[in-house]
Amino acid sequence: MPNPTCAHIRAIKTVKRAKRTECEEWVKVGTHWVHLRTCQECGTTRCCDDSPSRHATQHVRASKHPMIASAEPGENWLYCYPDEVFAEY
Ligand SMILES: [Zn+2]
Ligand SMILES: [Zn+2]
Ligand SMILES: [Zn+2]
Repeated sequence: MPNPTCAHIRAIKTVKRAKRTECEEWVKVGTHWVHLRTCQECGTTRCCDDSPSRHATQHVRASKHPMIASAEPGENWLYCYPDEVFAEY
């Protein structure tokens, strides 16, 4: 892998962090979550694929927003869905 980071991630200047540490959809439907992820396009926070509802992935599919960042304390990474690339920052 000569360059492990995709163009989407290279274009990021400031990583958006979660404004609130709760899943946006949880507020409406009340399912619990395991970890939280923040969309890098619109800055909203949703639950990860280990959570029963997988709202972050659903949001990416529905909105075509390509990237999420971990919203967990102490975790500094991004994930690009179209390129399936993880990057620490
Ligand atoms: Zn990408
Ligand atoms: Zn989004
Ligand atoms: Zn959720």
